[in-house]
Amino acid sequence: MHIYPDAQAVARALRPDEPVILNRPHAARRAARFFVDKFPGKVLYAVKSNPAPDLIEVLWDAGVTHYDVASIAEVRLVRAALPDATLCFMHPIKTPSAIREAYFKHGVKTFSLDSVEELEKIVEACRNPETGEAARDLRLCVRLRVSSEYSELSLASKFGCDLLEAPALLQEVRQHCDWLGICFHVGSQAMTPFAFVQALDRTRAAIAEASVVIDMIDVGGGFPSIYPGMEPPPLEDYFQIIHQHFYALPIAYNAELWCEPGRALCAEYSSMIVKVEKRRGNELYINDGAYGALYDAAHVAWRFPVEALEDDLRDAKEDFAFYGPTCDDADYMAGPFALPGDIQAGDFIEIGMLGAYGAAMKTGFNGFGEAEVVIVEDEPMMSMFDGSRVRVDSDNVVSLR
Ligand SMILES: *Cc1c(COP(=O)(O)O)cnc(C)c1O
Repeated sequence: MHIYPDAQAVARALRPDEPVILNRPHAARRAARFFVDKFPGKVLYAVKSNPAPDLIEVLWDAGVTHYDVASIAEVRLVRAALPDATLCFMHPIKTPSAIREAYFKHGVKTFSLDSVEELEKIVEACRNPETGEAARDLRLCVRLRVSSEYSELSLASKFGCDLLEAPALLQEVRQHCDWLGICFHVGSQAMTPFAFVQALDRTRAAIAEASVVIDMIDVGGGFPSIYPGMEPPPLEDYFQIIHQHFYALPIAYNAELWCEPGRALCAEYSSMIVKVEKRRGNELYINDGAYGALYDAAHVAWRFPVEALEDDLRDAKEDFAFYGPTCDDADYMAGPFALPGDIQAGDFIEIGMLGAYGAAMKTGFNGFGEAEVVIVEDEPMMSMFDGSRVRVDSDNVVSLR
């Protein structure tokens, strides 16, 4: 893969008619080292946020040994890239054939579930096909439903058993495994560490009611990255509060603490160069959009940082909205995106912080979606890991600006 110093050098060299994805392996390495060194437990990478094999190898080299996978295709992909990685199948609804292949062919022992039906499915799928004996090495995690109220994207309504169901399910699951965990997801881009406090409080209530031994607590993903208008407290605040509340839980003395960051590990990994095809007032028609890497910009009005890549733009910045390349009216991104007032058709823009749920979302709809991929060596446009996030010394920190 070609290496350039920065986006401007790429735009000058290629004058690209199609979008170009710019990867920063050094930024992903820094994020992974930060989590591995500072999170007070085991760090799993949530593969769905960006399944690029190059990225997965960078994370592995930086010390991430465990991977949260949610489909048999993700199991195969990570196993092919990393023969020695530990894979954990954390989607609470799986097909029997996916469970069987994961367990027997790829050595997956850890599965999550949120119902008795799923427990039965896992137990049956992992039975020895010759002797009919039940598997003795299953590691099962019960997914609890927790509140998403402190996060930008909810993951609260779809999965997880509620507090009324959890005790009976935990007792039932305990009969089928020697290692029992509880997992949850507070929602993506949790803007305050308090999101994890309320989830751990609920976890405490479930354990107390069930009176079973718990071997692992998995606080899931939700660790934030940084975007215009979304500047969270430093990740150390999250780690500290999680650590404190984990130690107060009534769990086995040697219980493990896990987390499953997706966004926080890879958001800074990629940006993208797009070309302005047309300008209509303060709307720019660009060559990526709702069906490409800008899915979240269109569907949940996410504001990504932008930078014009031309030298000859002199006007002050103004607010712009974007249209993507497809023929669909929904291919629209309200922003606002601040760019020089004299930007025009033919100019190139770098859109930052697209490593998570950006590059991974590209489709071929309407014949668009091709993108060259290159490596750049400069800093990402924004960062949680460059020492610029200031610690706030108080409990239950909320610092929304
Ligand atoms: C999506 C997902 C993650 C990663 O979430 P982020 O908000 O990107 O950190 C982790 N665990 C599970 C089970 C998920 O579905």
